[in-house]
Amino acid sequence: MNRVELYDTTLRDGTQQEGISLSVEDKLAITERLDELGVDVIEGGYAGANPKDDEYFRRVQSLELKHAVVSAFGNTRRANIDAAADPTLKALLDSGAAVLTLVGKASDYQVRDVLATSLEENLAMIADSVAYLKSQGRRVMFDAEHFFDGYKANSEYALQALKVAMEAGAERVILCDTNGGTLPGEVGRITAEVKAALGDEAQIGIHTHNDTDTAVASAIAAVESGAMQVQGCINGYGERTGNANMVSMIANMKLKMGIDVVSDEQLASLTTLSNYVAEVVNRRPSPFQPYVGTSAFAHKGGLHAAATERSVHSYQHIDPAIVGNANSVVISELAGRGNVVRRIREMGFEDVLDRDDATKIVQHVKDKEALGYSYEVANASLDLLIRRAIPNYEPLFELVDFMVVVENRRRTSFGTGWRTDGKEHPMLSEATVKVSVGHEVRHTAAEGNGPVDALDRALRKALREFYPNVANVRLTDYKVRVVNEGTGTGAAVRVVIESADEREVWYTVGASTNILEASWIALADSLEYWLINNET
Ligand SMILES: [Zn+2]
Repeated sequence: MNRVELYDTTLRDGTQQEGISLSVEDKLAITERLDELGVDVIEGGYAGANPKDDEYFRRVQSLELKHAVVSAFGNTRRANIDAAADPTLKALLDSGAAVLTLVGKASDYQVRDVLATSLEENLAMIADSVAYLKSQGRRVMFDAEHFFDGYKANSEYALQALKVAMEAGAERVILCDTNGGTLPGEVGRITAEVKAALGDEAQIGIHTHNDTDTAVASAIAAVESGAMQVQGCINGYGERTGNANMVSMIANMKLKMGIDVVSDEQLASLTTLSNYVAEVVNRRPSPFQPYVGTSAFAHKGGLHAAATERSVHSYQHIDPAIVGNANSVVISELAGRGNVVRRIREMGFEDVLDRDDATKIVQHVKDKEALGYSYEVANASLDLLIRRAIPNYEPLFELVDFMVVVENRRRTSFGTGWRTDGKEHPMLSEATVKVSVGHEVRHTAAEGNGPVDALDRALRKALREFYPNVANVRLTDYKVRVVNEGTGTGAAVRVVIESADEREVWYTVGASTNILEASWIALADSLEYWLINNET
C-alpha cells in the first residue's frame, strides 16, 4: 500500500473537548513531540480567531521542525464578498503557516438551512477561497464539512464541492464525518465511490469523530478504500466524544496494514508520547487505552501470565515493546537510570555525582512518583532533585513555616448581619510565610486572589529583599489533578506549575493529600529553580 499522510489536529480539534485547554507553551511543546513522532502535518489552531493561536503561529515559526509542517485552520470566505477582502482568509495568510486548511460545506442541507445561502454561492465560496490562497503561493487543503451526511442526501452536490476545491488548486480533499454518525462500512463504501468519481489523481483525506465509538475503524476503512491522509488527535481527544485516536491509527497502519507511517523507532516512542500529551492536557492516561495503556498488555489471570512468560505472543496481539509499552507497570520514562545519568551529564555534574548517586536519585524519583509526583513534564523539579543530591547543596531559601487563612466574608466587616446588596463577595485569602535566607529569617504576609496566589505573593515578598529580580518570574499556568482516585477528598493531588520569565519557561511539581502543601512545593521549586539559574 502507498504511504499515508498523518495529519494531527490535537492542537485544534483536540482542544475542542470539554476540559482541555492548552497554553501557547503547551502547544509548542506538543508540536515538537508530534514532529519527533513523525506526524506530517500539525494543525496548530484557528487563524485569527484568538490571541493565543495567533501567538502560537508566530512563535512556531522559530521551532526547527525536522519533518512536520504546520497548518492553520479557517473557514472559506463569507457569502457575497470578495475573497481578497475576507478577514478569515487574510488571517490564514497572516498565520505564516505552510499549509492552510479551509473548511467548507459539502452538504446541501447545511448550505441552505445553516449557512443560509445558495448552493451556487457555496461552491463559489469554496473555489474563490482556495484559488485566492493558492494565488498567494500557499499549500491549500480542503476539509469538506458534513461530507458523509451530505453525500447520503445529495451525492452529486457533495462531490461537486470536492471537485471545485480540487479544480481551484486544493491538494487534498478531506472527507469529514463532522457529526460522527457514520459507521465504518458506510465510510469505506462512500470513500471508494468518491475515489472512483474523482479519479486517481484525487488525494483524499479522512476526518472522523467518535460519536458511534468507531472513529478509528472508520478512518481505517477509508484508508482501505484509498484515502491517503488520516486526521486525528493523540489519545482520541477532540470535540464531544473525541476524534479518531491518532495513536491507535498509527499502530494499526504500521503493524496491521504494513503502511510505514512512522519508523520503528518512532513507533517505539508511542507510549511515551501518549503519556506525555495526557500529562500536558492534564488528563490521567487511560489504563485501558489500546496499545499504550498500562493495562493493554497486563495479565491478571495467572494462566495467561504464565503463558506470556513462555511466549510473548500467547495471549497478546503484539509484543508491547514495539509500541514502547511494557507488561509491568513503568511509572515514568524518567524512572529509567539512563535518563537520569544523561541529565546529570547535561547539567555538568558528572564529576560530583557518581554511579551510586545516580542510582539513589532514580530510587528517589520512584519513591516520589509513588506519592503522586510526576517528572514527565516537571523538568525544573527534576533538575532540583538532582542538585539536592550533590553533597553540601545549600538551598537559596528554606521554608520555616506557612499559614493560610481563607475566610468567607458574606458578613459585612462590622459583623452586623448578612449583606443585602445581592453582590458576589469574593473569599478573602491571606498567607503568612516564614522563610530563612542564609542566617536571616523573614516573616511576611500577603493577600491573594485565592490561597495559592496569596502564598506566592507572601513568598516573593520575603525573597524580594534578597533577590529583587524575582519579580520577573510569572506563574503562567497552574494545573491540579487527583492522582489516586477512590479515596475521595482524602486523595493525593498533583499540582504542576508553569512559570516563565522573559527568556525561559519551566515546570515544577508538588504532590500531597493537601492541595496547599502540593501547591507550596511546586511554587517553592519554581522560585528556587529560577534563583539558581539567575542569582548564583
Ligand atoms: Zn472535527
